[in-house]
Amino acid sequence: MSRYEGHTDLTALRVAREAALARTLDLVFERHPYYRDLFQRERLRRDHFQSIDDLERIPVTTKAQYMAESQRFVLESDGLEPEMRTVWDVMYTTGSTSGVPTPFVSTSYDFFNILKLQRNMLLLRGVQPTDLIANLFPLTTVPHGAWIRVLHAAASLQIPVVSAMPGNPSPHFDLGRSLDEVIALLRAQSPTILWGVPSYVQRVLARATELGTRLPSVRKVFVTGEALSETAREHMMAALASAGAHHAQVSISYGATEMQGGMIECHPGAGLHNPLPAQFQVDIVHPETGRALAEGEPGNVLLTHLERRGTVLLRYALGDISVLTREPCPCCGAVTDRLTRTPRRADALVKVKGMLVNPDAVIAELERHLGGCPFQITVEHVADVPLSGDRLRVRVERADDATLSGDLVRLVKHACGVTPDVERVAVGALQSDARWKTQRFTDLRGKTSA
Ligand SMILES: [Zn+2]
Repeated sequence: MSRYEGHTDLTALRVAREAALARTLDLVFERHPYYRDLFQRERLRRDHFQSIDDLERIPVTTKAQYMAESQRFVLESDGLEPEMRTVWDVMYTTGSTSGVPTPFVSTSYDFFNILKLQRNMLLLRGVQPTDLIANLFPLTTVPHGAWIRVLHAAASLQIPVVSAMPGNPSPHFDLGRSLDEVIALLRAQSPTILWGVPSYVQRVLARATELGTRLPSVRKVFVTGEALSETAREHMMAALASAGAHHAQVSISYGATEMQGGMIECHPGAGLHNPLPAQFQVDIVHPETGRALAEGEPGNVLLTHLERRGTVLLRYALGDISVLTREPCPCCGAVTDRLTRTPRRADALVKVKGMLVNPDAVIAELERHLGGCPFQITVEHVADVPLSGDRLRVRVERADDATLSGDLVRLVKHACGVTPDVERVAVGALQSDARWKTQRFTDLRGKTSA
């Protein structure tokens, strides 16, 4: 198989979804501790769910609810078929506030579906049997499904993958490779696809150019884990061209541990496709009422597992706002859920020195000004200064430009109304190889250490 074979029309998709959901709901009513209790409280019976539209009767599940009692979201599997009761693997989604990782359990049945999902992601992105993937994700202490799923994706399509192993996951081992070793590997292996987090890919491309290493075989770059604006995509394409990959495409993914995959672009700008719509349903709902919104209206992104046997989430809020269409994709013809606007955090606004700040707006301004140059924004509490005890701190990896700080202070003040402290730091200082993504904006108030 080397082409994506999705659903031909919405009716066929709906039939597949109804069948999967009916099987899952039978199990959820009987075996899902969290929803069983919720349905009892809400006086919901199995016969209230005759079609997929009835899902709307279920209150939205928040990330906080899932994190608070994640084990109660796993089906009780005694007596089910072996592939439905055997735990294949457990990945973790990092807690947003507590920092405690939340387990996401997949049975063998779920894992086989993950292979289908990953295969569809590759096919939608135009991967060919002749491709060779370079896995640029680091090994992490807490597995979340980026590093390992690249191996599984390659297996699902029987294509080769080479894992670069950047960074070192633990002081007890010497498994990791330095940036220059990673580049030497790319030079030796000539991969056609680079797959990683945007900040690390950008760093690899910059260093390759510095070293005079050419990567002309690269034809696609898959990025996930951090948002990539159109400006940042242009910078990455320019960096690819500098490294000799003149026609490489940058393909964005909106990934989540709760999917063990991501919604991806078939073509840059074509929207983020749900790659396996018979397995997941994606809805957009009103942030307060939880009611479905018409296609084209912005609202909260909900994920429903139609076909899982380990951790099962129904109408689960991923925490982002976007816009949905189910029109056939004008580029590839796929009939599926497609997000047509870059998802942004639903809880984006933060208060700093009494001003409401939209971090996305500040990030966008800095990206426009700094290009691919790494930066980090933090909000910190300054304990010694009474009343106006918060500060907005911008750190930029650029040591060579003395006029930069003044420019950035004006730029950030203009974007959000708050005057920042700008610091220039050494190249590489903001990025630790062992961490899998760079947090561009972090609110450190209320945390014990920075
Ligand atoms: Zn498409």
